[in-house]
Amino acid sequence: MEPKQQHFSIGYFILAFVGLLLIQSFLFAPHTENLSYNEFKALVKRGKVTDLVLDRQTITGTLSPEGLEGMLPKDKIEELKRYGKGTHRFVTARVDDPGLVPELEAAKVRFSGRVENTWFALLLSWVLPTLIFFGLWAFLVRRMNPRSGLMSIGKSRAKVYVERSTGVSFDDVAGIDEARGELMEIVDFLKRPARYQRLGGKIPKGVLLVGAPGTGKTLLAKAVAGEAAVPFFSLSGSDFVEMFVGVGAARVRDLFAQAQAKAPSIVFIDELDALGKARGISPVMGGHDEREQTLNQLLAELDGFDSQKGVIIMGATNRPEILDPALLRPGRFDRKVVIDRPDLKGREKILRVHVRGVKLAPDLDLSQVAARTPGFVGADLANLVNEAALGAARVEKDAVEMADFDEAIDRVVAGLERKSRVINPREKGIVAHHEAGHALVAELRPHADRVAKISIIPRGVAALGYTQQQPTEDRYLMTRAELLDRLDVLLGGRVAEEIAVGDISTGAEDDLQRATDLVRHMITRYGMSEALGLATLEEPRRALFLQIPGGGQKEYSEETGKLIDAEIRQMLAAAHARVRETLTAKRPVLERLAKLLIDREVVGREALTQLLARADEA
Ligand code: ADP
Ligand code: ZN
Repeated sequence: MEPKQQHFSIGYFILAFVGLLLIQSFLFAPHTENLSYNEFKALVKRGKVTDLVLDRQTITGTLSPEGLEGMLPKDKIEELKRYGKGTHRFVTARVDDPGLVPELEAAKVRFSGRVENTWFALLLSWVLPTLIFFGLWAFLVRRMNPRSGLMSIGKSRAKVYVERSTGVSFDDVAGIDEARGELMEIVDFLKRPARYQRLGGKIPKGVLLVGAPGTGKTLLAKAVAGEAAVPFFSLSGSDFVEMFVGVGAARVRDLFAQAQAKAPSIVFIDELDALGKARGISPVMGGHDEREQTLNQLLAELDGFDSQKGVIIMGATNRPEILDPALLRPGRFDRKVVIDRPDLKGREKILRVHVRGVKLAPDLDLSQVAARTPGFVGADLANLVNEAALGAARVEKDAVEMADFDEAIDRVVAGLERKSRVINPREKGIVAHHEAGHALVAELRPHADRVAKISIIPRGVAALGYTQQQPTEDRYLMTRAELLDRLDVLLGGRVAEEIAVGDISTGAEDDLQRATDLVRHMITRYGMSEALGLATLEEPRRALFLQIPGGGQKEYSEETGKLIDAEIRQMLAAAHARVRETLTAKRPVLERLAKLLIDREVVGREALTQLLARADEA
């Protein structure tokens, strides 16, 4: 839980002080009438002044209440009577008048001088403005950065959260079974370390959770702590970036000391990329000192602490590629667990977790909700359930119905579309046919690697889907026939779009790039083109320091260059024709596979072979 921080607020203090002054001067001080000096002198002469106090600039005193008529203007007398409450106080500015004292004595006025109360004047004229200025500054600082308080400068802003028990279990995590399975092992390490150490094995130190925001990385880490019943220490990498130099490093040291004292325990570092960005990437000269120091401290702690005691560090990031390689070295974050966006089944399971406390209409079908939410991650689904429940409550329904989910989906999708995280049904159809094309060609070509998995769940920014092939054995050589089959598989996606969608999309960019590279290498390096013969026309990459950007060096004439270009085009065209023929012949299978993909989003090896076998029977 977040510790409540109590800030001593200077702003409020000043406000109260000024308020008090105003109240004092307006309400409690008796009314004092301003008199001119000659009015005052006339009053003294007539014996109307009973007593007075002189200070350096003013004369303050009391008038006797009667007989003032005619001596003062009417309005002044009115005021004295109205506000004076019996005592008629006056004040007048003091004038250099050496004759005043004898006159006062003659008129028998009680008078005294006053030792000026300088501290009060000082307070008003000097201390108060300073305080006000200071308060204003603090106020502005706080406005600009709500997390910083004036009084907390120097204290760490990276809060460490400790939870004795997270109360989260693996039952709360659904739909990401692969990642969950990998982390179950960690739970076992924490529960029974001796079992693994018995034979001299070392327990892993760091686990890196990689996945898009909201896929449940934090949830998983908490579940590991909950299942193993160990304390959970967490902090976020981005908190360090804005801190003063040295504080972050101290904080990291402190965190590890605490975690080790409470071992076995889990330390969770969210947004590891904010902290562990590769050093030297920073555009600012000299890099970000604080981040670098903190990172160095983290590395030192990772190396220094003894994993045998059972402290396991879990880091989360959605951008593993920018992490400092030093973090990923053996003995640091050497285990990587990838958390994918959930597929159709996974989304349904996650929905089940989140509707536990929600009253659903009996005929509500959660699989339909899952089908309507491609691309949603766990956090989106949790949000969706809540929105639907709130929507139903707003119109005083007794249970949440499909209509409420529909409405909530539209609302959540609108939000996500702005972040471009969902694909519309038309795009989904294109991607499904594209991937089905790759997969089918791979299965139909004798030398291509078998397909392990096809997915149309968007991954990262660029890839909308992917077909994963699994080589049957380790390969050191590739034959021409194998390379040509590989080329066909690369073109399968584009050709499937042509045939089944009737239009082509930008989705094949990467495929075409790779196909072109492949063909170029066949011609210029492997001597596999009849037109150009055996000459190697491009040197393989040399040692790194000799390398010229852009790959191998050209070692051929302009004319040969033209020949190469023509040959590349010719080979690509030939491959295109081959693939087109294949896929046109297998159009019904292509359609069925695409349909299966649209329904399930992920198709594994088994389902694929079943589908192909059925196609062969027919
Ligand atoms: P991340 O750390 O990856 O950004 P979180 O773990 O903070 O994501 O997820 C935010 C919330 O989304 C969780 O608290 C949980 O309610 C919900 N959530 C995310 N993934 C899942 C999941 N696999 N199963 C159930 N709920 C999930
Ligand atoms: Zn493709």
